[in-house]
Amino acid sequence: VRSITLKKVFSLRTKQTRRTRSTGGFFVCLGEAMMVVLKFGGTSVADAEAIARVVAIVGARRGPRTVVVSALAGATDALLDIAAVAAMDAARARLSLAALVRRHHDIAATIEDAARRHQLGADIEGFARTVTRGIDKIAAGGVDVPPIVDTLLAAGELWSSRIVAACLADEGIASHWLDARSVVRTDGRHGSAAPDFAATQEAVSGLVRPALALDRVVVVGGFVGSGPAGETTTLGRGGSDYSAAIVGACLQADAIEIWTDVDGVLSADPRVVADARVLPALSYADAHVLASFGAKVLHPKTIEPAAARGIPVVVRNSRRPEEPGTRIDADGAGDGQVAAVASRAGVSLVQIVARRSAAPVDGSFAALAFQSLSDAGVSVVVGEFSDDRLTVVVDESFDLEGFRARVALFADVRVRAGLAAVCAVGDRLTSEPQLVTDAFGVFNDASVHFVSRSNGRTSFAVIVDDRDAHGLVARLHDHFRVGMCAATEAAALR
Ligand code: ADP
Ligand code: ASP
Ligand code: MG
Repeated sequence: VRSITLKKVFSLRTKQTRRTRSTGGFFVCLGEAMMVVLKFGGTSVADAEAIARVVAIVGARRGPRTVVVSALAGATDALLDIAAVAAMDAARARLSLAALVRRHHDIAATIEDAARRHQLGADIEGFARTVTRGIDKIAAGGVDVPPIVDTLLAAGELWSSRIVAACLADEGIASHWLDARSVVRTDGRHGSAAPDFAATQEAVSGLVRPALALDRVVVVGGFVGSGPAGETTTLGRGGSDYSAAIVGACLQADAIEIWTDVDGVLSADPRVVADARVLPALSYADAHVLASFGAKVLHPKTIEPAAARGIPVVVRNSRRPEEPGTRIDADGAGDGQVAAVASRAGVSLVQIVARRSAAPVDGSFAALAFQSLSDAGVSVVVGEFSDDRLTVVVDESFDLEGFRARVALFADVRVRAGLAAVCAVGDRLTSEPQLVTDAFGVFNDASVHFVSRSNGRTSFAVIVDDRDAHGLVARLHDHFRVGMCAATEAAALR
């Protein structure tokens, strides 16, 4: 039986065999059928060549596979630009749209099967018509713009996911495309919707599972969802990772794989630190901190649904699928060897200070201040409470005047803008605590406005002037690497 199995595994890797029959049940019996969600980011589906790599990665796997796809690299930016231009110059917006649509048609033209190619071309045009209608509505004015922007942006993932589903089918891999709006249900908040897990779970059970049971590779666009009334919503920039985690959690998948353009989560942003290295393993907690502090490779919300259900998240390079990538789970490497650095520009330090002269208000000052932040939808990067003030680090895009008005009865708000958060994370900070104390030596003359260890002993964060952030990341990374060499040498001498 074993030799037949191995032969079968081998032969299934050829395109011809894939075209002829489905073998899902066979592998389920052998225990090989991992339920996997594979998410491919924008660069991984940038053009026909990149999509061919996606098809090869998905085709080399067995068992229930759900593929979550981002828009083609740059498509979301182009759509946002189209939405912005539409208000001033609808003709120019339509021209930009035409160029973007052409880019999608160019990929569709590589589909071999004529009927499938024509159908795909028609689908691309159909989504493009929705964008044109959106441009016209924005140009006419007098409309609520955020819902229209969401419908425009959604086209990016609807196009790309349709294309990937067709390319899979063209290679003999039975695929089933689903409109993300019927799968990921949300609270309807335009631009940054939150998932409605109960409704999404129901949709996944009703739509995704039956297709997987028929041995189809399910393909769905990331980033996009729909609100309670069926209106199109998006999850926030970079949100396709989050879509993969939401769907993975609802499927109770064995793994959520994030396929991107780097070899995994690195010890620092490779654009800032050229010799950053791949972290083979990372804990959920550390990955969450890194992502929240600007490691763009993962959307910060990705970790929560995965961690809640104990599903490993694996970050891999679609250009180098032979590389193992980074595995993120509850344990991480567990060897006290991880140390990484990240930075996040564009944050403000906000002090909410209790007004002594204020009329008495119900509830404690801290509770009121926290509640006001939450009511205003402000998400806090890090914060600290002391006596009469709450100090929080928030994204600088928050609505300061709106927030001031909200707390005016009981507090003053002071803001320092133009800052960046720099964070160091990893279990080495616990196993070698002097790394943390010595780290302050590398700050040099950078002004440190705030220090936080609120994420626990495996991390610390400092708030500095924006211009100092990258230099500090590089110096901290060096500091950890030197420490690492010393530790390795000491171990070798023992
Ligand atoms: P995708 O389009 O696949 O979602 P992103 O551009 O969102 O890819 O994320 C991948 C990019 O994240 C990398 O190309 C890299 O420049 C950046 N990045 C920032 N910090 C890190 C880090 N610590 N590890 C890996 N990549 C990082
Ligand atoms: N296409 C969306 C963006 O560019 C979502 C994603 O790529 O994750 O933000
Ligand atoms: Mg991304």
